[in-house]
Amino acid sequence: MLKAELDKKISTFEELCRSKGLRLTHQRLEILKELIQDTSHPSAEDVYRRIVKRLPMISLDTVYRTIALFEENGLVKRVEVLDDKSRYDSNLEEHQHMVCVRCKRIEDFNWQGFDKLRVPGNVRNWGTVMSKHVELRGICKECLKKERKRTP
Ligand SMILES: [Zn+2]
Ligand SMILES: [Zn+2]
Repeated sequence: MLKAELDKKISTFEELCRSKGLRLTHQRLEILKELIQDTSHPSAEDVYRRIVKRLPMISLDTVYRTIALFEENGLVKRVEVLDDKSRYDSNLEEHQHMVCVRCKRIEDFNWQGFDKLRVPGNVRNWGTVMSKHVELRGICKECLKKERKRTP
């Protein structure tokens, strides 16, 4: 992510925190930055592993609690895939996910045609739809390459 893009995103989130009355301490800001920078939809453990290098005093529990607080306040979204640990997404715009069933990498993609689709009538009778999402599952290019190497 470009520095300018990152700075812009951080200030958007800082504003969001202010509007929610959420105090951004140094630790919280570091965790937030990590979540914004890492577009691979990291788990709390992933964030902790990276952040502990810069903030050796931080605990995994603090990272968990901080991310939970961010989630409650709508700063990040929880993504649950492949019965794996909760992963977090700081991309709050409408987007879809591609999930590799081998390396479990989650990548964002946009699908304008899907965004414009109307839900079928019987779903409208069911109740109110608040969001819709596509999750494509497959094997990513890198994993395909590795598999091809293994089978000559
Ligand atoms: Zn993969
Ligand atoms: Zn995403």
